[in-house]
Amino acid sequence: MRIGAIEAGGTKFVCGVGNEHGQIEDRISFPTEHPETTLAKVIDYFRHKDVEAMGIGSFGPIDLQPDSPTYGYITTTPKPGWESCNVVGTLKREFSVPFGWDTDVNAAALGEVTWGAAQRLDNCVYYTIGTGVGVGLVAGGQRVHGLLHPEGGHIRTRRHPDDHFAGLCPYHGDCLEGMAAGPAIEARWKIPGSELPADHPAWEIESFYIAESITTAILLHSPQRIILGGGVMQQDQLFPMIRERVVRNLNGYVNVAAITQHIDQYIVQPGLGQHAGLCGSLALGLEALKHATEASHAS
Ligand code: ADP
Ligand code: ZN
Repeated sequence: MRIGAIEAGGTKFVCGVGNEHGQIEDRISFPTEHPETTLAKVIDYFRHKDVEAMGIGSFGPIDLQPDSPTYGYITTTPKPGWESCNVVGTLKREFSVPFGWDTDVNAAALGEVTWGAAQRLDNCVYYTIGTGVGVGLVAGGQRVHGLLHPEGGHIRTRRHPDDHFAGLCPYHGDCLEGMAAGPAIEARWKIPGSELPADHPAWEIESFYIAESITTAILLHSPQRIILGGGVMQQDQLFPMIRERVVRNLNGYVNVAAITQHIDQYIVQPGLGQHAGLCGSLALGLEALKHATEASHAS
């Protein structure tokens, strides 16, 4: 089986071809430029790849309502040129295959449930903490959609008592993304996160904000696993700091062994590692193919 996967990021696009076992057989990556240029590169890459379906996990916000006239569009992004961009429609004109479409983080959550750190579970939360903060949700085995899709990266948390940084989010200032994404770390300390030593006070503040958000996610969604990916989470020392603070925040109230005894298997790195995003898009494509096959058998 050959499924096309597209990880549509605000910084870079990754395209690949994979199979039903979550194995990526070929991949390519290029910087995100103007949509016309970028989507032309995507089309070129897939032109002779002969894929049976395609999955796209995209930066957002995006339109996911199947009956909406702007289904398949990236909607209100401040990223130049990409506002109201018809991603799915543009690709559908070139490839007549079933398309799966969701946010990058919902896709990654699906990928982790299918092949990664949340296998055999049907509820999980996936965070990416990178250039922005995104939060994807799978509940009851399904990617969570509603009015739009979850936007947990823009929820405000309590403020760290020693932190006077105003926050970088153009919409909310000091929401989670405004306080804890890579650019916020760099703006607060005037050094990129990747260059800060592991014992720098930055990580105490960073783990505070992530733990605040995770505590809310646990109380609101009751996920069976929490997966933390993205460039900032390459700072391994954050994991024990976050786990400890989440346990402290909950203070015994959610009295289940996963939290009280096995927190290091509950808040984890992506099982799919650096491929979580692309494998997520692959899982979306596979799901789209299954639905299309079922629909054709039913008719
Ligand atoms: P994107 O979110 O654009 O897909 P990444 O997940 O790689 O890409 O996130 C990029 C952000 O993560 C940048 O702001 C960068 O400063 C930060 N980052 C990358 N690597 C590290 C690291 N090792 N430690 C801390 N921050 C990092
Ligand atoms: Zn925000």
